[in-house]
Amino acid sequence: MAELVAAINRNDRLYYVEARPVIADADYDRMYEELIRLEHDFPQFKDPNSPTLRVSGEPLAGFAPVRHDPPMKSLDKCYEKGELVAFDAFLRKELPDGGWHYVVEPKVDGVSISLLYEDRRLVRAATRGNGEVGDDVTQNVRTIRSIPKALPADAPDRLEVRGEVYMTRDGFVKLNAELDEAGRETFMNPRNACAGSLKQLDPKVVAQRPLDAVIYNAGGVGCDGFASHTELIATFRRWGFPVAPWSRVAATMDEAIAAIDELGANRHGFRFEIDGAVLKINERAFYGALGATAHSPRWARAYKYAPERAETVVRGITVQVGRTGVLTPVAELEPVELAGSVIARATLHNADQIAAQDIRVGDHVWLVKAGDVIPAIDGVLTEKRDLFVVPFVFPTACPVCGGAVARAAGEVAVRCINPACPAQLQRRLEHFCSRNALDIRSLGGRLADLLVEKKLVADPLDLFTLDYAALAELDVGEAGAPRKFGKNAANMRDAVEAARTASLERWLFAIGIPNVGVTVAKDIAAEHEKLSDLPASAVLRHVVANDAKKGKEREILPIKVEAAKAVLAFFDSPYGQTFRARLAALGIDPRRAARTVRTDGPLAGVGCVLTGTLSRPRGEYAKRIEAAGGIVQSAVTSKTRYLIAGANVGATKTAKARALGTEVIDEARLLELLG
Ligand code: AMP
Ligand code: ZN
Repeated sequence: MAELVAAINRNDRLYYVEARPVIADADYDRMYEELIRLEHDFPQFKDPNSPTLRVSGEPLAGFAPVRHDPPMKSLDKCYEKGELVAFDAFLRKELPDGGWHYVVEPKVDGVSISLLYEDRRLVRAATRGNGEVGDDVTQNVRTIRSIPKALPADAPDRLEVRGEVYMTRDGFVKLNAELDEAGRETFMNPRNACAGSLKQLDPKVVAQRPLDAVIYNAGGVGCDGFASHTELIATFRRWGFPVAPWSRVAATMDEAIAAIDELGANRHGFRFEIDGAVLKINERAFYGALGATAHSPRWARAYKYAPERAETVVRGITVQVGRTGVLTPVAELEPVELAGSVIARATLHNADQIAAQDIRVGDHVWLVKAGDVIPAIDGVLTEKRDLFVVPFVFPTACPVCGGAVARAAGEVAVRCINPACPAQLQRRLEHFCSRNALDIRSLGGRLADLLVEKKLVADPLDLFTLDYAALAELDVGEAGAPRKFGKNAANMRDAVEAARTASLERWLFAIGIPNVGVTVAKDIAAEHEKLSDLPASAVLRHVVANDAKKGKEREILPIKVEAAKAVLAFFDSPYGQTFRARLAALGIDPRRAARTVRTDGPLAGVGCVLTGTLSRPRGEYAKRIEAAGGIVQSAVTSKTRYLIAGANVGATKTAKARALGTEVIDEARLLELLG
């Protein structure tokens, strides 16, 4: 029991706090069920702090705590229909006069949220946390379009509603592809991606995440006077809340079970992942009488569907080398059909993942689809393991170049650290030419591989000095079917020539610096004239210095500190210096894309800096200033005309600004200026 308690606590932390689970949900549930069973059989050994006594999850550092009144509870779960029948019997005993109906709803697999409205405006959004205390994630939740920021006049003055924020399945797949392209760690599944997004400290990042919500419960205020759950939900819908697109009312448990089966048959048809059905009593009058345990209300149950999964065998584990040298293990599987497609490979993410699940070549495994799309291994059938199956040993050298590999402190990824590794070069070359980078389309994966193999290209910049006449003669066909590159060579040369004048943001992304994705590249480009300004950039240094400051001194800047550090480190590195020198020799110095600046706006050409706590999101003001022709800067310079100071701005900061000739104004004055 002590072991289970420790394991559950550890996994709770990984799941709720770090949003980085290392075991499958089903395995977690099994441990939890086992502990409940043991505690039931041996109450004398029950830990007074057992995780079964609370809703999991601890509030995060970095977000203000929010106390939930009443606490946000979890749901009791059932895995078999028999448990539902027992629930029905329990209700008959508790409510001998009968008269209740069931409502069946999808169990949305996301992150529970509480939304508070005052004077019909959204004033606070909080996660469940441990049920008693959650995190204030208002800024992040405000970025979710479907969540109303204001309510119609007939909504109560004060209202709290509860529901689930989720990441759409399509959006999850796209996000992971983007993260992958930017050389960043991907998310395991949509729920994980959703939790990870909500705990972002930068709402701008959250705004780009495909988040949505379903509101399904009353909160602590403003929800009295509804006779039934269906009435409550219909009213929520009228007030503009997103509600579940499917639900059924049932008079008997048989009908409810039929509805649960109907939902189960359609479970892959929703925009969100569902991990079960929720069964609630429709008549709210009974809620008080039934009450709740420390963990969950007695008037509802979650029914978890058996995960759709298929058994297969791991034939091999191959290790791929990515653009930044990251070694990604991939399971080569005995092809098997799962939820409509045949699957032969599944990513294993990293060495930790393989070790945590103890996946070995030759193992029988369960295959599931994360987010209903991405194949993932969800547990090993150890009882079927052959005697001679040995643990997987993660390569200690790069499988492509044979060079050394290393693992940076605090990172899960193992990387090949050989800068000349052909595998890295091939992927870097592809990235350099990709659509959001320099958009050199004729360079597909096959040609990138060939150019590196034939040693025609040892660095992406070699594209600018390549002999394209000779390239026309290159055989790019498959084995046994030779085909010359021919006319494509001239097209490619034109595309490469055009890339010389591609914008700073495209170049910055093309270089492939860790943490510098498309958006970050744009943010950095917006603050700089040209690429040659970056190595000695005062703006980037300011961002790095700001990170070391504490409390009020610390500004919120439009560039992320990891990105600023990475860009500076790149230009400081020997490779970065060579890169710069070569660009200079090639006569290339990418410039920021010309912005259409309104020259007639009320703030035309005026430099503004936003600081402190403002009543509206900073991004919103930035947009309005730009729309008025102004230039939003990340730090006060001699070119800054106005420092817009919100609440909690230190006197030193405003004094410094004044010393530079900047006028310090408040929000009201800004609104006047904006007209
Ligand atoms: P779990 O997080 O697995 O303990 O399951 C309980 C959670 O399911 C609740 O706290 C809610 O966040 C979530 N949930 C998802 N859909 C619903 C729904 N329709 N009604 C109530 N709870 C739901
Ligand atoms: Zn290598």
